Amino acid sequence: MSTTSPVWVEIDAGAIAHNLDVVRGEVGITTRLCGVVKADAYGHGIPVVLPILMAAGVDTIGITSNQEAEEARRRGFSGRIIRLRAALREEIQEGGRLDIEEWVGGGDHAGVVIAAARSLGRPLSVHLSLNSTGLSRDGMDWDEPQSQPHLRRIAASPELAIVGICSHFPCEDADDVRAGTLTFRNQAGAAERVLGAPRGRFEKHCATSYAALTIPDSRMDMVRIGAALYGDTSAAVPGLRPAMRLVSRIAAINPYPAGSTVGYDRAARIDRASRLAVITVGYADGYPRTLGGRAHVLVHGTFAPVIDRLAMNSLVVDVTQVPSAQIGDEVVLYGRQGSAQIRSADIERASGTIAAGSYTAWARLNPRVVVDVAASEAVPTL
Ligand SMILES: *Cc1c(COP(=O)(O)O)cnc(C)c1O
Repeated sequence: MSTTSPVWVEIDAGAIAHNLDVVRGEVGITTRLCGVVKADAYGHGIPVVLPILMAAGVDTIGITSNQEAEEARRRGFSGRIIRLRAALREEIQEGGRLDIEEWVGGGDHAGVVIAAARSLGRPLSVHLSLNSTGLSRDGMDWDEPQSQPHLRRIAASPELAIVGICSHFPCEDADDVRAGTLTFRNQAGAAERVLGAPRGRFEKHCATSYAALTIPDSRMDMVRIGAALYGDTSAAVPGLRPAMRLVSRIAAINPYPAGSTVGYDRAARIDRASRLAVITVGYADGYPRTLGGRAHVLVHGTFAPVIDRLAMNSLVVDVTQVPSAQIGDEVVLYGRQGSAQIRSADIERASGTIAAGSYTAWARLNPRVVVDVAASEAVPTL
């Protein structure tokens, strides 16, 4: 491994390229694909992911921060960049030279985008978000009395060049997505009539990875794909490969007698004589402290329990059942080792919070190593 770091995030570029192929195969080529690279490509790194998207001809990406848009432009991306949330006026103005299509998050927020466009001295391309799916976050609700006057004002604003009408699902549930799609289709059509699409119609889009890969009706003109690219979706699509591993090493191993308590607060106790390994990763490196005493890691392809409450930069694993384990060995805290795998669902069950919250933090806090695992060596996991 080409790092001397005590803990690192390993990205499999081959898996991301493969997952993109799988998604393309599912959604077909007539639906536009927006590759979502917010949060530095879900921690996988825009420098790693963007070239893969560009090589495959993906001409639209989804970001949230100006930094992400800036990095994409700096790396030669000349396609469309859509911001996937309502932005602050300052953000919109700062991002003005990056040619970002903004997300209009409601009637009052339209006023913010208009003000930013005036300051920039040119119209801004925008997507108008509707609350058809019931997320109630940054979409205009059709049943609120203000929605019609707001729509008419938006239609009459030369500062807004409307490109699309969009919505975002609250749940990864087939019935929920089916119902939301239907409502969105109706409301988007009605909104389009009020707004008066210049070329007949606007681009309509609501699907994320789960929706696009589960309910074909949700695909419409464009799908916004993040999770599936990284091999971390709850959609039942065969062949997707997780693209990230969190890896550390064993620094020391010691035998301790039965009855010893382990770690802070004496929170754990071993009933039998045990070999305990200390691993060089802790909660300050982004591994959630709630995983202490609940998660497993992989040592020599075998599950071994994390038994202590984590320390800032170390944790204790019981390797009694892995007699071959020794100082310096690699330990996988997320992802595959041999034929075993720690999945997002395992992290979620043990930590009580979504895995993406953890792996985006690991990626911010630790060095990244990029590998390219050949398809022949990779084991599909879904
Ligand atoms: C993050 C995001 C997506 C991508 O969702 P995945 O489930 O990761 O595919 C799509 N749309 C919006 C508005 C988002 O914020």
